[in-house]
Amino acid sequence: MIVLKSAREIALMRQAGHILAGVVERLRGFVRPGMSTLEVDEDVEAYIHREGAEPAFKGYRGFPATACISINEEVVHGIPSARRKIREGDIVGLDLGCIVEGYYADCAFTLPIGTVPANVQKLLNVTRESLDLAIQECRPGRRLSDVSHAVQSHVEANGFAVVRAFVGHGIGRALHEEPQIPNFGDPGRGPQLRPGMVLAIEPMVTMGSWEVRILDDGWTAVTQDGSLAAHFEHTVAVTDNGPEVLTSLSGQSAPTAPASRGR
Ligand code: MG
Repeated sequence: MIVLKSAREIALMRQAGHILAGVVERLRGFVRPGMSTLEVDEDVEAYIHREGAEPAFKGYRGFPATACISINEEVVHGIPSARRKIREGDIVGLDLGCIVEGYYADCAFTLPIGTVPANVQKLLNVTRESLDLAIQECRPGRRLSDVSHAVQSHVEANGFAVVRAFVGHGIGRALHEEPQIPNFGDPGRGPQLRPGMVLAIEPMVTMGSWEVRILDDGWTAVTQDGSLAAHFEHTVAVTDNGPEVLTSLSGQSAPTAPASRGR
């Protein structure tokens, strides 16, 4: 069952989302070469606590940290570590969640460290654009798979692949609620979207094959073929007036990567 949220519930999720938008802004200036992923994680945790919220991922099914930090061929769920240093030219996926009065928000972005090759920047841009296109489908009367199809068609038209093993999700009083939101599929299928639905949409895109495997740490998902992967996510409320991005200060999809429609 897809739980519809009241205006009050969406307001709490907006509060949580705005805290995450603040974390994203901070990290864009904070993360630099030589820093360990644990240092980044500790900064995120302190920020979330300063804002009066709770980290959403820490302790979730035993996850040991506040942020998931996934570098290069790591797709999602990387565990922050004092040993893992961020290097010039890396692409760093930062997945963030927090809780305000029992309500969750979830977002992710992939940050290039310094200058990356044009094809890698294109991977980031296309992934980000596919999220924007999917958000535009979050309107009353559209069907769930219209969201999925928007991601897949844009990604594949640009020569990249969408990961199958992980999906977006409903979100509210739990981090993961129904429905599951695959990043692939034919349009026009599944439940109709209705005002009050809140969806965490999160394309995961690779430069090679879509297949992934899990490392021995039990969490980190990497591409099977070692190709680079990008991940962007927003928590989005379906409203009578169209999509509201709860994890951006403007309610619109905020620039979490250099804005670029040119390819
Ligand atoms: Mg998520």
